[in-house]
Amino acid sequence: MSLNPFENVRLQIDNSKKYIDSDPEIIEILKHPQRVIEVSITMKMRDSSIRTFKGYRVQHNNYRGPYKGGVRYHPAVNLDEVKALSAWMTLKTAAVDIPFGGAKGGIEVNPKELNEYELEHLTRGYIDKIFPNIGPMHDVPAPDVYTNPQVMAWIMDEYSHIAQEHTPAVVTGKPLDNEGSLGRGNATAMGGYFVLCKLLEERSEKLQNKKVVIQGFGNAGSNIAKILHANGAKIIAISDSKGGIYNKEGLEIEKVEEHKIKTGSVTDFKLSENVSNEDLLAIKTDILIPAALENAITNTNANKIKAQIILELANGPITPEADEIMNKKDITIIPDILANSGGVTVSYFEWVQNLSRYYWNLEEVNKKLEQKMHKAYDDISIFASNKKCSLRQAAVALAIERVSLSIKNRGILS
Ligand code: NAD
Repeated sequence: MSLNPFENVRLQIDNSKKYIDSDPEIIEILKHPQRVIEVSITMKMRDSSIRTFKGYRVQHNNYRGPYKGGVRYHPAVNLDEVKALSAWMTLKTAAVDIPFGGAKGGIEVNPKELNEYELEHLTRGYIDKIFPNIGPMHDVPAPDVYTNPQVMAWIMDEYSHIAQEHTPAVVTGKPLDNEGSLGRGNATAMGGYFVLCKLLEERSEKLQNKKVVIQGFGNAGSNIAKILHANGAKIIAISDSKGGIYNKEGLEIEKVEEHKIKTGSVTDFKLSENVSNEDLLAIKTDILIPAALENAITNTNANKIKAQIILELANGPITPEADEIMNKKDITIIPDILANSGGVTVSYFEWVQNLSRYYWNLEEVNKKLEQKMHKAYDDISIFASNKKCSLRQAAVALAIERVSLSIKNRGILS
């Protein structure tokens, strides 16, 4: 069983290449990041102690456009994880057909242990180190786990300061007051909602009263909970890093959110019973949404999953072995590179608005997002039914095909 996410992306590429006329040299290119940057950020903490943090930026592929991908602050960040996340970005931007390549960044840190002053200095230190390798036409970071619009505003400010030029397009996911885009806050969840509705429509099913279980209550998890709840689904269980809660009649999501703001966790919410993250995944439900970290579902718990549909809002939550087990059980998986691509799609819209210096209203952003997600879903779903493969194999194969064409047209292999 491989829990190395980078090995898992490579396996996904191997499992999908047979569905297209793939070129071995291009498969080789996709199995290696183009550039790996590792930096050390040494800084003085508020208590005058000195600490050094390890930071990474991995630039996987830029044949279809500037490198694009989030920055994660988490104690478990490591090079293989960042490499995997960067490769998924290349596949994702190609699968939904937006003109970017793939990259990812991260710092090995528990941001909950740092105060705001330290977080700002850590972010500025990281940008000082990777400054020569990022830029609006080179590499454009964004938020990921435990980073947020405030962190993006510091990134833009530090970059602009060094470049001596106002440069909002160097990063996306910024606050609205700093040239962020309307709709970026819940874009990942909104994109997931649009593709889930397409799948249900294809099956002549309705979202109304469908039971939903969600792992993770951050940007992706809490926003999908709110959107699905507002559209008639019943969120019966939800969790965060401290544990989960369950109520078979459905949870009042706004009240859960208030409870989380007050106590720091969803656990011990009064109208529910506590469940562990492990037990939460095994609850019988119509829709399961992993929205936390990689490797949530492996070959050790895949057999316990009792959902009909899985919407992967997290990146890499299912290992290739678990994927195979669940495909045999006829569970439909909407793969991460499609399901969570609303985030990078509205990041693309933000970048376009920054470069054109002209800003769109919310209706316009959401309309364009819906069109993009529907087109991506149709492309992938038609490919899957033509080739009789899973949605994941279809999404990865289509992505490889698009990157391949771009590489070949540019003459890189000639
Ligand atoms: P976030 O920092 O806003 O939230 C993360 C959530 O996961 C928190 O609620 C945290 O408590 C929970 N969590 C952490 N460890 C957990 C564990 N072991 N078990 C259960 N819950 C746990 O992060 P996010 O932006 O919502 O990202 C979540 C996932 O979605 C990641 O895989 C990320 O790569 C992916 N994603 C995010 C975006 C985006 O725009 N934010 C876009 C695409 C994909």
